[in-house]
Amino acid sequence: MVKHFSSQRVGHYLVTAISDGTMKASLTLLSGIDIPSAESIQAQSGIDVPGDIHIYCYLIRGEGRTILIDSGMGAVNHIGGELQPNLLALGVNPDAIDTLLLTHCHPDHIGGLLTANGQPAFVNAQLYLSTAEAAFWRDDEKLETANERTQRNALLVRRTLEAYRPNLHLIEQDRITADIHAIPLPGHTQGHTGYLIDSCDERLLIWGDIVHYPHIQLARPDVSISFDNDPALAEATRKAILEQVSRDKTRVAGMHFGASAFGYIEGDAHSGYLLRPKTD
Ligand SMILES: [Zn+2]
Ligand SMILES: [Zn+2]
Repeated sequence: MVKHFSSQRVGHYLVTAISDGTMKASLTLLSGIDIPSAESIQAQSGIDVPGDIHIYCYLIRGEGRTILIDSGMGAVNHIGGELQPNLLALGVNPDAIDTLLLTHCHPDHIGGLLTANGQPAFVNAQLYLSTAEAAFWRDDEKLETANERTQRNALLVRRTLEAYRPNLHLIEQDRITADIHAIPLPGHTQGHTGYLIDSCDERLLIWGDIVHYPHIQLARPDVSISFDNDPALAEATRKAILEQVSRDKTRVAGMHFGASAFGYIEGDAHSGYLLRPKTD
């Protein structure tokens, strides 16, 4: 069977959405909305399994570079793990990835960075993540008061960063290439970061976890999810970036978008937003 991958041209780059699978989640993780309202938005959006969350990674090829943003869950706890076979189906060997960009360090974004025996899965890649993100997961004091899930996640983060130590780069608002910039979008995690490709007057913002249930949280940007480290800041960041990308008509992509891996945000703060899919 020939697999179809959704790709978009952004100036000199070709960006391809690669699924790592889905995670079983639940609408009960949301706050600021009751379950029937959340279910009804999902049903109106044509979603059959309202609680599931898709996991995407984005591959960027162009200007002699092969860049991967996030790595999916990588079969940690038997979830996801489809990134590697999908890369191969696309004809991309993991050794060909020269750069890994991380939006943040939750397991559904970094789980695919290590092989089953704890070695780097991308041996030729330089790994970039935000200084604030690394600092959070390395801070013993902060973790002491964090919940059990965060403490468990921290072990995976530390193991992963240690395995990539010789190739690890901590960044802030840096340029990754002449056309790709890191954009801090804090709240979901301390160092949560988006990546903006701006090439030949075409733009795409890959915004990580600004939304987990895109239809619900675009219609109602005040709705947060229990994975948000700082829900108030996550909400403020979400509202500000939605206002900006809808005004600027910047194309967006998100790690938890559903069937449409790319789109434009339409609407306004008063009546809510929606994702207008952008297909090939
Ligand atoms: Zn996350
Ligand atoms: Zn996520």
